[in-house]
Amino acid sequence: MTPSKDAVILVLNAGSSSVKFALFSAETLQPLCRGGIEGIGSRARFGGASGARAHLFEDGLPEDSDHAAATHWLLDRIRRADGLRLSAAGHRVVHGGPDFAAPVVIDAAVMTALDALIPLAPAHQPHNLAAIRAVSGAWPDLPQVACFDTAFHRTMPRLAQIFAIPHELTDQGLVRYGFHGLSYQHITDVLPGIAGERARGRVIVAHLGHGASLCALHGGRSIATTMGFTALDGLMMGMRCGAIDAGLVLHLIEQRGMTPGQVSEILNRRSGLLGVSGISNDARTLLASDAPRAAEALDLFAYRVVREAGSMMAALGGLDAFVFTAGIGERSARIRASIAEGLAWTGLRLDATRNAANDTRISTDDATVPVYVVPADEELPIGRAVLSRVPAV
Ligand code: ADP
Repeated sequence: MTPSKDAVILVLNAGSSSVKFALFSAETLQPLCRGGIEGIGSRARFGGASGARAHLFEDGLPEDSDHAAATHWLLDRIRRADGLRLSAAGHRVVHGGPDFAAPVVIDAAVMTALDALIPLAPAHQPHNLAAIRAVSGAWPDLPQVACFDTAFHRTMPRLAQIFAIPHELTDQGLVRYGFHGLSYQHITDVLPGIAGERARGRVIVAHLGHGASLCALHGGRSIATTMGFTALDGLMMGMRCGAIDAGLVLHLIEQRGMTPGQVSEILNRRSGLLGVSGISNDARTLLASDAPRAAEALDLFAYRVVREAGSMMAALGGLDAFVFTAGIGERSARIRASIAEGLAWTGLRLDATRNAANDTRISTDDATVPVYVVPADEELPIGRAVLSRVPAV
């Protein structure tokens, strides 16, 4: 008799030059392995994996692998693993447009709809869709679920979604979509276990990584967010400028004669921490530097979070809890402290020892607004969505 095999779910997050992946038990949603492939398009390489099943994925990925070949390589490793049965796959898809407000089981009609959204996220959506097609090519009957970065914010009231532009353009979908939705979904899933009743109240979540945004949660639903039509809006980021005067963009084109491509390069790749410091897009490098511009970049980063948090608070009508997540949010006590200082007027106070230790609750006991540090996890909500959407996984 063949021993029964453990059902697993594969989660894929395909970026422009990388594929992050995770395997979860379909029974318990325990993570069995998380890892990544990097350098796709130049020299593809396995970037390592962690977890009980990490040994399934060792070196041996052909250097010339494109996204499809890298996905096939992963699937082949899973197919050959003793004791595992792949029962479904879930994908991070950056854009769900106006209509996808929740994860969806993928079929031909869904793929047509997702292809039509490529102009809204031309740098990311094609890679996400290529991963879906690679899986269906290699494993035709495998159920697949798409989970969107935008979907979580479809609960925002209309005024939080529309821009003050001609209504015809709004009707054509030029609205604030917001991103980092999977990260916010995860925070919403775990926060009740950490903050109790306050998790249902007025909460600001600060996702501060290479990309950065804030989300205002009320009753566990997004009511406002800082990213907009694209992921360029809102906070200052590693290389992105965040919100700036649209007139400045026009000036660069009309008065300086720049092409759209040159402006895009400046705003998406040469701004943010990198542009202001002139040193690095990496917060750790800037924290270790004593250059005045590094300090100014970090000060501006915190200032922008404080300013936008004030706007989120106004949308919420108050504040019951504040959550930090993602690379900077989870690990930089100094940046958290500068942000908290700027928000002290809200009743937010950090305990220096807890903050330095990256504790789960870093506010003082008497602070009126508790502050939490919660590790980001954009794969687990995808695994959870697969379990809920695919019967008998
Ligand atoms: P991504 O948005 O690509 O998922 P991360 O969430 O990993 O990125 O966040 C990356 C950012 O977190 C970088 O700016 C990095 O410098 C910063 N970071 C990571 N660890 C630390 C640390 N110990 N102290 C300060 N910043 C950190």
